This record gives sequence, structure tokens and C-alpha cells, in this order.
Amino acid sequence: SPTATTPSTPASEALFSRARAVTPGGVNSPVRAFNAVGGTPRFIRSASGPWLTDVDGNEYVDLICSWGPMLLGHGHPAVLDAVREAVGRGTSYGTPTEGEVALVEAIVARTPVERLRLVSSGTEATMSAIRLARGFTGRDVVVKFAGCYHGHVDSLLASAGSGLTTFSIPGTPGVPASSTELTLVLPYNDREAVAAAFAEHGDRIACLITEAAPGNMGVVPPAPGFNRFLAETCRAHGALFISDEVMTGFRVSKAGQWGTDGAVEGWVPDLMTFGKVMGGGLPAAAFGGRADVMAHLAPEGPVYQAGTLAGNPVATAAGLATLTAATDEVYARLDVVADALRAGIADTFTAAGLPHVIQSTGSMFSVFLTDHPVTSFAEAQATSVPAYAALFHSMLDQGVHLPPSAFEAWFVSSSHDDRAVQQVLDALPAAARAAASR
Ligand code: PMP
Repeated sequence: SPTATTPSTPASEALFSRARAVTPGGVNSPVRAFNAVGGTPRFIRSASGPWLTDVDGNEYVDLICSWGPMLLGHGHPAVLDAVREAVGRGTSYGTPTEGEVALVEAIVARTPVERLRLVSSGTEATMSAIRLARGFTGRDVVVKFAGCYHGHVDSLLASAGSGLTTFSIPGTPGVPASSTELTLVLPYNDREAVAAAFAEHGDRIACLITEAAPGNMGVVPPAPGFNRFLAETCRAHGALFISDEVMTGFRVSKAGQWGTDGAVEGWVPDLMTFGKVMGGGLPAAAFGGRADVMAHLAPEGPVYQAGTLAGNPVATAAGLATLTAATDEVYARLDVVADALRAGIADTFTAAGLPHVIQSTGSMFSVFLTDHPVTSFAEAQATSVPAYAALFHSMLDQGVHLPPSAFEAWFVSSSHDDRAVQQVLDALPAAARAAASR
């Protein structure tokens, strides 16, 4: 049950100072450092189902779920068995294996992709998809949306330039201007900006890449028909439409976000990228799509792409076990859990006078501390960061680990049982009061 006092965290603090002495910021991926909310990140020793246990023995309901992969919760028996069985046969061979074929077949069966290449991270997937699109079309320009994150690919770490249809500037030191000068960054959900960009530069555009439903500025769903409009605009101009389902794939539905829009509306992306859930918590990701486009990839075609650990046998075993265990009952449970949390959040935040908007795609949702819907990155950035930090810390003190940033999705798993859900609901009133007072 929720504790009234701040959990004591001396072991996390000691590890954080050891970590900072040897690793930049003490973490191996920036958002883990709590920079956006302050305080000491909890070093986790183990996890089971919906629970995280830190090195001081504190337990938390996990609403990060490894930023998406843990659809079934931690330590799912079928996944652990598959991993143990795979490890027993060796960890990597650098030769083809049956497991790779089976995982790719499982993904091809669930999605509209015809051919798929396995890689080890979502970043590699989007980087490779863009290279392939450029190689296939013989064009150089890439269109992306502000607020969409596709991994730390140089050409995609771009922020918008001054005008809507101007080329962009690097979003970080270390990326040369020459890497982003062929990237057009447009406001999300803005059909006119897309139409203008294609009218002006259409014959130079290799591809448009978008998160199938953005989750990296918080959840900002596509307006109805927006993805179809993107697919049609790309087709009309001979550009490829790349739908990034690294976060939404196999989470929002069995067929990801495409299962809820493309499959219903009757369009198919030229290329798709996947990661997270398809690796079951181990490093596995993929890109794929039209057979004629994928035929341009080495060794079949001229566009080079490779990976020492791509299709790793342990990762593919974890991924296949996860997809196999992700039954209709699993997706139904995810919805029940997300609905219970969303209802509890709406009630308690309203009672506390805390302005909020909950936005979802399937069971993936975000809580924006603002009083109007968020449709773009500019609107997401206008929400209250200090209030979120207060909310985050109150929840953490009461044994609930939210994402340590106001601009992230909250992830649930099918292992979130009634006790875990209740612990979150019980923590909400005090957290809402803390946030409302900021
Ligand atoms: N695309 C999307 C939509 C993502 O959410 C992420 C990771 N959050 C990536 C790509 C990059 O994946 P990875 O961190 O595995 O490189």
C-alpha cells in the first residue's frame, strides 16, 4: 500500500554517484537521469509482473514498462522460458537461424509488410529505412514532423527552421548542418503544411517519416484521416511513406496503429519500422514493407545495411515468445487497465482542480497538465513541467513509477493486476494536490 513518507534510497544514491563518475550523467539513455523532474533515479535490481524493486528494496508499480517493450509485464514465464532455452544453445552465431525466420514470419502475419529485415534498435530501423527510401527513389529530401522522435539518427535530429517549407537546422551539436539540410520539419497534424512542402519540393522528396501515432511528445494521436492523407500525398509525388511503429507496433493492437487506421481505411505504408514489443525486452527491431522496395537492400540489391547482432537468437526468441503470448485477452486486459487509470486520473485531477487532458491511442496514453487538447509539439511544450515534476515525485513517494518527463506516454502491461491498479488509484489524490499547488 502507498507509503506516506519518502522511501529511503541510499543505495540508489550511492550507485548514482558511482555511475556519474564513469558515465555521462550517470545513465546510458538521457531521460533516465531525472533531469526533467529532479532527484535521484531509482536503480532497479529486479522486476516481476507490474512491479519494480529498487536496490534499497522499495517497490513501485511500473508505468514505464521499459518505455514500451514490456507488453506482458516483467518476467513473463513464456518469455523467460524461451530466453533460457535459447541461451542454452549459445548466444550468437553470425549465421542464419530458424528463430529469425519465425519472428519475421510472425511480424509479416500481423502487419502489411511483405519483407522484413531485423536490426537491433529502433534507431537502426529508421536510419536504414531512410537510406533505403533514398536509394530506391534516387531522391535526397526527407520530411518529418516536429515532436516525432525516430531515434538518434543524424538526419532526423533536426529542429524546424524559420519557415514551414524551409530546410532545418541540427537539433544537437555533433550533427553537421549538411546532415539536416535535406530534412524538412513540419508541424504535426497540419495538412496544409504537408501539401505546401510537397507542392514546393515534391520531386526531391524521397520519403516522409512519421510516428504512426506520436508518443514522443506525449501521446498526440493523428487527426482522423491524417495518416491516410500522408500516404496519398506521398504516392501522388512518388515519395515513400514510412510509418514508424517502434512504439505503437504490437502495443496499440495486434497490428499496431496501422491495425486501427490503415487496415480500416484501406491503405498501406511503403515502409514500416518496429522495435520495443517485438524484442520482448531484448534488443531487436526491424524495418520492412513493399517487396519491390525491400529488394533494393543488400545482398539482393545495391543499398547497403548490416548488423553483427541483427537477428540475435536470444532476442528473437524473446520477441517471438512475446508476440505469441500477446493474445486477444492480453489486449483486452491492457484496455481494462488503461481505462481504470484514465478514469481515476480524470476524477481525482478534476476534484483537485488540476487542469489536465488525457490523450490516447489504444492503451497508450499521456496526461498533459493543460486545459486544451494537444495536437502538435508546440502545444505539448506549452503544458506545465513544474506541475508534472510535483505529480511525478508524489507518485514515486507513494510507490508508483511514472515516466520521468512530462512528454512521454504512460505504458501499462497485461500483468497490471487489480492490486497494482489500486495502488496507482490510491496515490492519485495526494499527487494531484501536490501538482495543483505548483
Ligand atoms: N522510433 C520511435 C517512435 C521511438 O519511440 C523510438 C524510441 N523511443 C525509436 C524510434 C528509437 O528506438 P531505439 O531507442 O530502440 O533506438
